Amino acid sequence: MNKKLPFDHSFTVWGKEMFGESVLLLRLNPCEKPLKFRAGQYLTFKIPLNGIVHERPFSIASSPGSPNSIELLVKLLPDGIASNFFRSARVGDVIFADGPSGDFYVDRLKGPSFLVSSGTGIAPFHSIVQDFSETHQSGFPVTLVPIARSSEDVLFYDRFNKYTVILNDFSIKIFQNVVSAATLFVGLDNAQIYLCGAPRFIFEVQATLKESGFPEEGIHYETFL
Ligand SMILES: Cc1cc2nc3c(=O)[nH]c(=O)nc-3n(C[C@H](O)[C@H](O)[C@H](O)COP(=O)(O)OP(=O)(O)OC[C@H]3O[C@@H](n4cnc5c(N)ncnc54)[C@H](O)[C@@H]3O)c2cc1C
Repeated sequence: MNKKLPFDHSFTVWGKEMFGESVLLLRLNPCEKPLKFRAGQYLTFKIPLNGIVHERPFSIASSPGSPNSIELLVKLLPDGIASNFFRSARVGDVIFADGPSGDFYVDRLKGPSFLVSSGTGIAPFHSIVQDFSETHQSGFPVTLVPIARSSEDVLFYDRFNKYTVILNDFSIKIFQNVVSAATLFVGLDNAQIYLCGAPRFIFEVQATLKESGFPEEGIHYETFL
């Protein structure tokens, strides 16, 4: 009888690149076979430390169209378990994960859609928009709404800019705060808001939308707990 391995997939680290001082772009190759996933899903990494295996989920930032080359955007915290693990990982290291998991994917848009994120919360949105650009479909206008000081603070800004050329209905609108971003979609009947980022950020956007009377069924979110 085959013994079940304590992980679903193994990956070789083949690239590391820093965005500023605190975000790491990690490139991984699946060791066994191409990784099947839906844009917006995440992998749960197994991180051994002092005899304990810790689990940390990370959204896949690349699209299902590149199943042999997986990208992650990792916010490096000063003393985080995953942060230290990925910070010190070397090209050629093999690492392990379960998944893909999660239902934060967008197979069929239900109306004009706004992808609102802060920091590395943009990762699943990159996967989703790259997927749209490769399949040339979204169906409704899609607006990326990063909450950031300027385009320089938006991860993958150059890539997203290219998708605005490939996709007729895709645009980027940067806002410095959540309250001004909400002026974009409040009042739009069938708008769908997708939120991704740290718990405080998600809470802030939800509170702003609630205050403006935005219907709850139009709000979808992934919290980076
Ligand atoms: C579905 C899902 C997808 C995720 N995808 C991503 C992703 O694509 N990219 C990404 O960077 N993260 C993502 N996360 C968060 C990630 O899983 C880790 O929780 C996070 O990176 C911290 O892990 P760590 O082990 O380095 O820190 P930990 O060892 O867990 O924490 C170290 C310390 O930092 C504090 N801390 C934790 N988060 C923060 C924060 N944001 N700011 C300040 N202090 C903090 C903790 O309270 C603790 O004191 C995702 C989480 C979920 C649930």
